[in-house]
Amino acid sequence: MSTGFPGAHCFGSGKSNEHITRLGKLLIKRGGKRFYQQAAGPRWGNADLDATRAFQQAQGWTGSSADGIPGPRTWDYLVNGKGKDIPGSSSSSSSGSGSKPSGGAVSSPVPGHRVSYAFGVRNARYSSGYHTGDDYAAPTGTPVVAVRSGTIAWSDANGKSYGSWIGLNADNGRTYVYCHLSARSVSAGQAVKAGQTLGKVGTTGNVTGAHLHFEDRPRGGGYGQVRKPTW
Ligand SMILES: [Zn+2]
Repeated sequence: MSTGFPGAHCFGSGKSNEHITRLGKLLIKRGGKRFYQQAAGPRWGNADLDATRAFQQAQGWTGSSADGIPGPRTWDYLVNGKGKDIPGSSSSSSSGSGSKPSGGAVSSPVPGHRVSYAFGVRNARYSSGYHTGDDYAAPTGTPVVAVRSGTIAWSDANGKSYGSWIGLNADNGRTYVYCHLSARSVSAGQAVKAGQTLGKVGTTGNVTGAHLHFEDRPRGGGYGQVRKPTW
């Protein structure tokens, strides 16, 4: 397969071609799986923009070098396996299977608040056909906490539908995903203890009101790779 950059005209809103499919597959390999709600390409979508931007930011690039549209340098890095992966997908920080459950003390990711809209409700408005997490309705600014101890996998504002979000690689091998936040007080790579505040409930991304959308994924899992949240 050619390693040459196909040209910026191939990418962006309204475009559909095999280069976009290839881009998506490469980004998924480099840690971008969480952005993709379905298979990569051939139509350009928000997942391509968000994942490309996350990859560019992972290289330390800023401004127009991290605009979410691949240029020759982004393409070179992806096709030739150069640079850093998108943070948050590594399984290396897991303390692993077989460890004793230690998170039982935390009864809710939003202390004092219960599930207001449950996991698994079927609705055609979701790409997966069902609700992929538990929702906790709470006023904007209500603290959200780590349900178990672990390491922050990602903490960023890149998610178009999930808004400002955090991934927690917990000590039971699961990744817990906190979405639609109004504030984040942790950063990728940071170790956290069960019960520690991670951020605040908000309305960022695709929402109709303030709530935490909370998902339970296998380590490195993407959209729809979820189970009923438990910890
Ligand atoms: Zn939800």
